Amino acid sequence: MSSLKNKTDVVLIGAGVMSATLGAMLKEVAPDWNIKVFEKLGSPGEESSNEWNNAGTGHAALCELNYTSEKADGSVDIGKAVKVNEQFQLSRQFWSYLVKRNLIRNPEDFIMPIPHMSFVEGEKNVAFLKKRLEALSASPLFHGMEFSSDHQKLKEWIPLMMEGRTSSEPIAATKIDSGTDVNFGALTRMLFDHLERKNVEVHYKHSVEDLKRTRDGSWELKVKNGFGQVERHRAKFVFIGGGGGSLHLLQKTGIPESKQIGGFPVSGLFLVCKNPEVIAQHHAKVYGKAKVGAPPMSVPHLDTRYIDGKKSLLFGPFAGFSPKFLKTGSNMDLISSVKPNNLMTMLAAGVKEMALTKYLIQQVMLSHEKRMDELREFIPNAKNEEWDIVVAGQRVQVIKDTDAGKGTLQFGTEVVSAGDGSVAALLGASPGASTAVHVMLEVFEKCFPQHMTAWEPKLKEMIPSYGLSLSDHPELFRKMEESTGQTLGLVKKKELVYS
Ligand SMILES: Cc1cc2nc3c(=O)[nH]c(=O)nc-3n(C[C@H](O)[C@H](O)[C@H](O)COP(=O)(O)OP(=O)(O)OC[C@H]3O[C@@H](n4cnc5c(N)ncnc54)[C@H](O)[C@@H]3O)c2cc1C
Repeated sequence: MSSLKNKTDVVLIGAGVMSATLGAMLKEVAPDWNIKVFEKLGSPGEESSNEWNNAGTGHAALCELNYTSEKADGSVDIGKAVKVNEQFQLSRQFWSYLVKRNLIRNPEDFIMPIPHMSFVEGEKNVAFLKKRLEALSASPLFHGMEFSSDHQKLKEWIPLMMEGRTSSEPIAATKIDSGTDVNFGALTRMLFDHLERKNVEVHYKHSVEDLKRTRDGSWELKVKNGFGQVERHRAKFVFIGGGGGSLHLLQKTGIPESKQIGGFPVSGLFLVCKNPEVIAQHHAKVYGKAKVGAPPMSVPHLDTRYIDGKKSLLFGPFAGFSPKFLKTGSNMDLISSVKPNNLMTMLAAGVKEMALTKYLIQQVMLSHEKRMDELREFIPNAKNEEWDIVVAGQRVQVIKDTDAGKGTLQFGTEVVSAGDGSVAALLGASPGASTAVHVMLEVFEKCFPQHMTAWEPKLKEMIPSYGLSLSDHPELFRKMEESTGQTLGLVKKKELVYS
């Protein structure tokens, strides 16, 4: 049975943090627009946005070494780090706006202050870390970052990582206290509660099966509801925020922009500590250096996390392989994403990415003992029996033809939209949820250019640095950092943590 439901202004596919962010932003700039959400699972934020399915790092390039590369002349390129940091500041400002207006409450349930640290071993790496700090110090965004190679200092910063360390290799770390742990699952649930209060129709257990353009330029969606019945819904604008499920839906739109794009799934696994005494001894997110041949998203890190109001300790990610594009997806996802128009792109990637394939095979074969050995590079005394492995979310890396050649693997996020702006899809997962507001501003610019002038005053109220580069406006950055820190409770909580 099939029934045609009313036409609506906007349909958001998927109830993850990306649709939640777009919905919340649209409700501010265009409060009269009707919005419907279709989510195939039973509640919001169950896939990648769930707190157990991602690492919860508020990515601001404060600790991730892969955002700063060494140039041929030996200097450090901080361009990407500045970009990622500025993007995270947009999220902080928007979350702060929502809290200030009581649209979401209790920010401590989704964001907590936690020092962000980079940790390296070996003379060359230590020299790089020092040089990196000098380069970052030139930008106001990284003020307060400290460097130390002194074992006594490091024992204060990371006692758990220093205990039992016998290697004679030089070691060093940088530390910055303005880092955050973000529970994106909790944030997604809060945003969906807010959207429902604003009369957004959220339909759980509704899977979008197909979408077709209609004669009047809008989109008709075929949606299967929880009873197995087919419903048809129309929308002027569709956002495909299906996470790993987005590629298949984008392909169904048939828009020219959806061609020659493929996806490759990589799962993440984390070791989770079971011993509360060990958990209590660590208080930081510590990022190391990726192993040679490993993709950037597999940089190892030891993370203090706040989940379900409790402090936890996780290490990873280890990579896994599953042909599914969503954790709850199908084993046919990878095969069915290969179409005549992206076959050559996928084959080219297969030939080019032998190092990644080799890395994935090695990762999949790792025993618990071998994973623990990797953890022991961070915590020398870690005991096998105190750590369990948990499977996190699926990341679908975008493969496309670029200037770098056919079938190039991309590690960032990509907004793919139709020329007329009537549909947009979000692909890729890095830096991910942290930059959701920046990504949605890109959706606004690509899909609603005709409204941007009218929306600008509201956007500036929601995101005071909108349209400005914070690194070029140090005063504004300091003001924003302080006010968002106050509103999100980061300053007060920091004092509590250290008292
Ligand atoms: C291991 C790992 C670690 C990560 N660590 C970090 C981190 O530290 N910091 C960070 O910022 N980001 C991180 N990320 C990335 C971050 O999790 C994602 O960028 C973000 O959660 C993506 O949100 P989303 O809304 O696009 O997708 P999801 O949260 O996956 O939501 C998509 C939703 O769409 C639904 N859906 C799919 N297809 C359909 C359909 N046909 N019909 C209806 N509904 C559908 C799904 O059920 C799902 O609920 C990490 C990701 C992984 C996998």
